Amino acid sequence: MNKLLIVGTVAFDAIETPFGKTDKIVGGAATYIGLSASFFDLQSAIVSVVGDDFPQEHLDLLTSRNIDISGIEIVKGGKTFFWSGLYHNDLNSRDTLVTELNVLADFQPKVPQNFKDAEVVMLGNLHPLVQSSVLDQMETTPKLVVLDTMNFWMDCALPELLDVIKRVDVITINDEEARQLSGEYSLVKAAAKIQELGPKYVVIKKGEHGALLFHKSEVFFAPALPLEEVFDPTGAGDTFAGGFSGYIAQSENISFENMKNGIIYGSNLASFCVEKFGTERMVGLEAKEVNQRLKQFKALTQFDIEL
Ligand code: AMP
Repeated sequence: MNKLLIVGTVAFDAIETPFGKTDKIVGGAATYIGLSASFFDLQSAIVSVVGDDFPQEHLDLLTSRNIDISGIEIVKGGKTFFWSGLYHNDLNSRDTLVTELNVLADFQPKVPQNFKDAEVVMLGNLHPLVQSSVLDQMETTPKLVVLDTMNFWMDCALPELLDVIKRVDVITINDEEARQLSGEYSLVKAAAKIQELGPKYVVIKKGEHGALLFHKSEVFFAPALPLEEVFDPTGAGDTFAGGFSGYIAQSENISFENMKNGIIYGSNLASFCVEKFGTERMVGLEAKEVNQRLKQFKALTQFDIEL
C-alpha cells in the first residue's frame, strides 16, 4: 500500500459565517487533509504539533481513520495553534481575524521513520521552514511532492516560502494568493510565472468557481458542484488537497491525465466539507456518498458535441 505523508497545522479554529458562529472547534490544514485522504486506499501519517490543551478525542478521531499520528508532537504546557476567520456574504472571501502560532512558533518536525520513504508528500499549510525540514528528512525521493500555502506565509516568510516552492512538483493555491505570489492578475499568466518558481504543475483553487490545473501550455478545469447550501468553507482548500494527493498516492500515476481525476476527487470531497461547520461533515461522510456525488460531477461536465 502506498504511503502519503502529510504535514500541516492541527488547530483550534473560531469561525463566523453569515449562518452562524463557532467557539473554538477542531481544525487545521493537516486535520482536513488527513480526513479527506482517508477515503483512499493508502497508509497516511500526519506530522504536526499541538499543545496539551488539545483534546485527546480529536487525536483519537484521526487514529480511528487509520492515520498514523506518531508524528504529532504534544507540547507540555503549550497552546495549540489558533486561527479565527470571518466570511463575507458571498462565502468566497474571508478575513483572518486572529492567527496565534503558539506551539507552531518553535516547532521542529520529526518524520516517523516508517514514512521517510513515502511515495507522496503533502506539504499542507504551515511555516515554509517546517515544510522544508520535512523534505530534508525524506530518505528516498518521493514520487510527488505537493505544497499548499496561504497569504499569511507570503506576508511573513516569503524568502523561505520561495525556497521550498523550488523543491515541489505541484502547488495548490487559491486565486488571490496566486495573484499575490506572481504579481499577475491573469490567472493564466500567474500560473506560468509560478511554474518558473519550480512546480511543474499549478492548481489554482477558485472556491465555488472550481479549480484549474496548469502544466506547461495545458490546462484543465474542474467545476465546484453547485450546492443548495454552503455553511462554512473553512478547510475546503485543504480537503481538496487531501483528495488530490490521496487519489494520486492511491493510483500511483503522476501523469497530467491522472491529475485531472485528482482534482475532480479533490473538488468532490471539498463539496462535502462546506456543507457543515468545521470538520463535522467530513467526520460523518461515508464512502458511498463520495461515489454517488462523483456521478453528479461527471454529469455536470459531460457533453457530446462531435468535433
Ligand atoms: P482553508 O479554508 O482550506 O484555507 O483552511 C483553513 C484551515 O487552515 C483552518 O482550519 C486553519 O486552522 C488553518 N490555517 C489558517 N491559517 C493558517 C496558517 N497561517 N498556517 C497554517 N494553517 C492555517
